[in-house]
Amino acid sequence: MLLNLSDVLSEQHKPIDAVLPLEMEAMKLPGGPFPLVEKSSVQIHIEHVKGKEISVSGSCSLTAVIPCDRCLSPVKVPMEISFERHAVVGGETAETDEESDYIDGYHLDVDKLLYYEILIGWPTKTLCREDCKGLCSVCGQNLNEGTCDCEDPGLDPRMSVIRDLFKNFKEV
Ligand SMILES: [Zn+2]
Ligand SMILES: [Zn+2]
Repeated sequence: MLLNLSDVLSEQHKPIDAVLPLEMEAMKLPGGPFPLVEKSSVQIHIEHVKGKEISVSGSCSLTAVIPCDRCLSPVKVPMEISFERHAVVGGETAETDEESDYIDGYHLDVDKLLYYEILIGWPTKTLCREDCKGLCSVCGQNLNEGTCDCEDPGLDPRMSVIRDLFKNFKEV
């Protein structure tokens, strides 16, 4: 969704207050895309600072669905996004930081801005529960749901090959 910034930049410098839907369906990141669900609308306030500089602030809440780092089952991660940024509209590229590309000419791209804000708040670690037992490294069994018959699930599978070789050697 694009917001026209001409009111803010006009001589009256009229602030913009808008309530918009968050149109993004998923976060496109390595290992993704990760669905975004339970999205609130985006509250956004834009006002003039000086010259062609504006301040953009706002908030929204959403839930990201991210696989557990250990067992890969989907985890719903609620996120509260709130932001305040300054941007120069129609300025030379040198004046704007690299992340100001959510300003497109005299329009503000709400989804692009939100993408950066969600990225900033993105969890570095996601677990379905603190004591998630993860998957068996040999057979892939989800150890939260049950045990498997593998001798030593913590053992590196390459090690078990060596161990078997050793066993055979002894038998000879
Ligand atoms: Zn887990
Ligand atoms: Zn196993």
